[in-house]
Amino acid sequence: MPRRLSRRTSRAVAFRGPVFDVTREGVRLANGRRAVYDVVRHRGSVVLVPQPSRDTVVLIRQFRWAIGRWIWELPAGSLEPGERPDRAARRECAEETGLEPARVRRLGTLYPTPGFCDERMIFYRCTGLAAPRRPPARDEDEQIEPRTFRIADVRRMIARGQIVDMKTVVGLGLAGRSSTA
Ligand SMILES: [Mg+2]
Repeated sequence: MPRRLSRRTSRAVAFRGPVFDVTREGVRLANGRRAVYDVVRHRGSVVLVPQPSRDTVVLIRQFRWAIGRWIWELPAGSLEPGERPDRAARRECAEETGLEPARVRRLGTLYPTPGFCDERMIFYRCTGLAAPRRPPARDEDEQIEPRTFRIADVRRMIARGQIVDMKTVVGLGLAGRSSTA
C-alpha cells in the first residue's frame, strides 16, 4: 500500500441512470501526478446459485442487448435502493427462476470490473427451492427462460465455450468449493 493515498480533486456526473451513474473524476495520485478516470458508480448486485439438489443448478437463458446474443447464465440482479443483499437474493431468485428459496447462503463478494466500475457482486447459494403461492412479478424488460442443469453438464458447457458469462463461471467455482447446504 502506498503511504500517501490518491486524492479526488474533481467529480462530474456524465450520466445518471436508475442503476448506475457514470462520473469523470480528477485525481491527484500518490506520486503527485494527476489523472482523469471515467467510472461507472454502481449500486451493487447479487448473483444466485439456485440448487434444486446437490448436483443441479438453475440457469436462465436471456437475451443480452449489449452483446446482441442469447446466453445461459446464473440468475442475478441489481440491488434496489436501500435493499439488503440477502433480501435481494430471495427476490431475484423468485423473479428469475420462479422458485422461492427457503435458505440463502453468502458464498463471497467480488468486483467483476474494477478497472472502471465499482460494482460489487455478492454471490449466494439458494436452496430449499419451492414454487411460490403467487406467481412472482418479473421485470418487463427481461426475457428469461429458466432451466435446471446438472452441474457436470454446465462444467462441460464452460469448457466448450458455450457459457461466456464470467459471473456464472465464478459462481459455480464458489459453490463447488463450499460445502452444500
Ligand atoms: Mg437479472
